[in-house]
Amino acid sequence: MSTDSLAGRLAAVRASIAAACVAAGRDPADVTLLPVSKTFGADVVSEAVGLGLRRFGENKVQEIQAKATALAAEHLDWVVIGHLQTNKAKAVARFASEVQSLDRLDLAVALDKALQAQGRGIDVLVQVKTAPEETKSGLAPADLPAFLDGLKAFSSLRVRGLMTLAEATDDEARVRTCFRTLYQLRDTALQAGHPAHALSMGMSGDFALAIAEGSTEVRIGSAIFGARTSKL
Ligand SMILES: *Cc1c(COP(=O)(O)O)cnc(C)c1O
Repeated sequence: MSTDSLAGRLAAVRASIAAACVAAGRDPADVTLLPVSKTFGADVVSEAVGLGLRRFGENKVQEIQAKATALAAEHLDWVVIGHLQTNKAKAVARFASEVQSLDRLDLAVALDKALQAQGRGIDVLVQVKTAPEETKSGLAPADLPAFLDGLKAFSSLRVRGLMTLAEATDDEARVRTCFRTLYQLRDTALQAGHPAHALSMGMSGDFALAIAEGSTEVRIGSAIFGARTSKL
């Protein structure tokens, strides 16, 4: 199938994920694909829905709100993967099914309050900063155990795992170190009794390395939807 089409690129990404799993001695069924539709419009998402996709990663709550409203009849699942301001908690509670970028207590407080008011709960992943760049957000690894304990107080937040972005570098060893750090943090979390099984790590440029390091969910944008014109 041609990579000129969404269907062709999706098939190619799925094949690459499966190949990376086989190379790592893993079952492809253990790695979930989260398509990242940020910056692409409801028309593109609608085409992806036609290909069987139902769950989409987005960076901005305003974009989720616009697309969720345009495609309301589809009842899609919207996943927040970008840095989240506390004042967006109400919109998240209305439009998102999951937040993968939970990285601080005041955000947990605001999300829980907004979700309680709506009478619903969502899945959350805790974003951990495993890369050295100042611009990357996420909780410091040393703060994770206490943070996970603290999240038990929020009944509307179901902790499902951990998320990270690797260092942006061509040095594969350094990328793998980020992923390995998250894997080890999950081990510690599981031993402490937190049901944090999911490891959301790996994007278009590094998902094969992430799968080799144990990723259970890869967030893929440009390899499926094409290059983004606005930088996000
Ligand atoms: C944009 C984004 C992705 C997808 O990036 P691609 O390189 O386009 O696959 C994954 N995770 C996060 C947090 C993102 O912001």
